[in-house]
Amino acid sequence: MESILRTLRLALEQQRDLGGPFVPRVAVPASPLRPSFSVLEPSAPLSDEMANVDLFGNDAPAPSDNPYERIEALIPENHPVKPATTLAELEAIVRAHEFIELDRDRINPVFGTGDPNANLLVIGEAPGADEDRHGEPFVGRAGQLLNKILAAVNFTREEVYISNILKSRPPGNRDPEPEEVEAHLPILLKQIVLIQPKLILCVGRTAGNSLLGRRSSLAALRDKFHDFHGLPLLVTYHPAALLRNDQWKRPTWEDMKLLRTRYDQLVAGTA
Ligand code: URA
Repeated sequence: MESILRTLRLALEQQRDLGGPFVPRVAVPASPLRPSFSVLEPSAPLSDEMANVDLFGNDAPAPSDNPYERIEALIPENHPVKPATTLAELEAIVRAHEFIELDRDRINPVFGTGDPNANLLVIGEAPGADEDRHGEPFVGRAGQLLNKILAAVNFTREEVYISNILKSRPPGNRDPEPEEVEAHLPILLKQIVLIQPKLILCVGRTAGNSLLGRRSSLAALRDKFHDFHGLPLLVTYHPAALLRNDQWKRPTWEDMKLLRTRYDQLVAGTA
C-alpha cells in the first residue's frame, strides 16, 4: 500500500514538474538486470490549483530553480548512483554494477573523459569497439572527427567533458534498447549534477531523444536550444553520420556556431 501511495505521489510530483520534457520515476520492483524505474513521456500539466499540493492535499515545495537540483531529483532514491558525491565515486559504482546485460559482456565500462568542471558536456550514444577496448569515449574514427568538430569552434577535447548515454558497448553497434537507456540514464544524470555544465551538446538523434524523452528526427531536433530542466541543450549530427554523409557537415557547422555563441555568453554571464 505504502509503495502504491509513493508511486502515485511521485507521479503527481512529476506532473507538477513538467518544466522539463524527461521524467523518470520509481515504478515496479525490478529483476537484477532490469531498472527499478521507468522513463515516462511528459503528459498534460496539472491546473494551477493542483500544482502546489501533494496527493494528500498538503502544500508541496515549489520546484527548484537550480537545474542541478532538479536533475538530481530525477534520480530514483533506490538507484545505486544516488549517493555518489564525486565523479571518482560514481565511476567506481559504475564499474562495480551490472545494471544491464551489456555491463556483463563489456571489456571496459566507458564512463567519460575531460575536465570534471567543464562548462560544456558532450553526449554521444554508446561506446563502439575501440571505446570498449580503451575504456574512453570517442577514440575511434568518429571520435577523431568529433575532436575536429570541437576544434572548428575552438574547443579542445580536454576542456569539455565527453560521455555517452550508455556506458557499455551494444553488440555490433546496434541501437540502445529503451530499457538499457533507462537503466544507464541515472549515471549520466549524476554526471551532470557533479560536473555542473552550463550547456549540453548531444551528438546524434539517440542522445538527443534519450535526454529529451522524444522520438524526433534529427532534423526536428537540431538548430535550436532545448530546455533540459533549466540547462540549454543543443542536438546536432553524430560524427559517425557525417563520415557516411558529407551533406550534413554544413548544418553541423551551423549548429556548432550556435553552440559557441551561447557558450561564450553563458561563460561571460551575459546570457
Ligand atoms: N559513438 C558514440 O556515440 N560514442 C562513442 O563513444 C563512440 C562512438
